[in-house]
Amino acid sequence: MRIGGWDIQIVSGGTFRLDGGAMFGTVPKMVWNPLMPADEENRILMGTNCLLLRGETAGRSHVILVDTGNGDKESEAFRDRFQIQGPGILDTSLARHGVKPEDVTLLVLTHLHFDHAGGATRIDERGELVPSFPKARVVVQKRDLMDAKRPNLRVKASYFPKNWEPLEAAGLLDTLDGPAELLPGLSVRMVPGHIAGLQMVVVESNGKKLFFPADLIPTSRHIQPAWVMGYDLDVVTCVNERLKLLEEVTGTGAVLVFEHDPDVPVGTVSQDAKGRYVVTPVISQRFEELVRVTI
Ligand SMILES: [Zn+2]
Repeated sequence: MRIGGWDIQIVSGGTFRLDGGAMFGTVPKMVWNPLMPADEENRILMGTNCLLLRGETAGRSHVILVDTGNGDKESEAFRDRFQIQGPGILDTSLARHGVKPEDVTLLVLTHLHFDHAGGATRIDERGELVPSFPKARVVVQKRDLMDAKRPNLRVKASYFPKNWEPLEAAGLLDTLDGPAELLPGLSVRMVPGHIAGLQMVVVESNGKKLFFPADLIPTSRHIQPAWVMGYDLDVVTCVNERLKLLEEVTGTGAVLVFEHDPDVPVGTVSQDAKGRYVVTPVISQRFEELVRVTI
């Protein structure tokens, strides 16, 4: 996909599984289970669909990654609990596009939860924690970094210092204070609700738009505004932020990336006769192959 000067691909950090009830909040299982079938532990399959952007501005070339999936450094027990695929999925997925970790110039983290920032650091041959993308500046919202460093009990299980401390130690971590244009045609907006410091990535040129709303709308099945997650801290804000985004994209052909969708990573949005939102997958099969990377 191309928007303006940006060449855009979906890369995968591998699949994992989360409790279906937690992913669908108050939506009854008899409604969500046919859409995303649960396994014997009530877990549903999730993707970690990340964004790869390549382009040139003012004679400088950019290789930009948005989010990184769960990464490879968790214990066997942790990987087993969440059925984290890998190791090596993100590297393999990037390599398919000819990108090596040291080629990445900018890493945008929508937030620091482990299923988004886990791949930002890795354990090297000497057993030390190091940035996975040694030459990439990393941007995250100041508010999220603050919350990650002093998490309340409700979110503590999602924030692991090992996912950002090596970035800070290497002097690679920059914070943003609210919405920002990162490069021409590439910006971030605040979309609070899931957490206060969540940022959405927007790629835009000549009326063509792509949105990467991360956990604001984690899968295409979460397109109904009230279908929020048990993980969302402020559900009313989340619903309102979804409505705002849906108003902007519905019927326009703008593309949404669903970071956690296992088989519809990219789609456009319309409304049916009853006013319900409908996602039309964009070249689903090609992306499906990219999303379900096996090595
Ligand atoms: Zn997530």
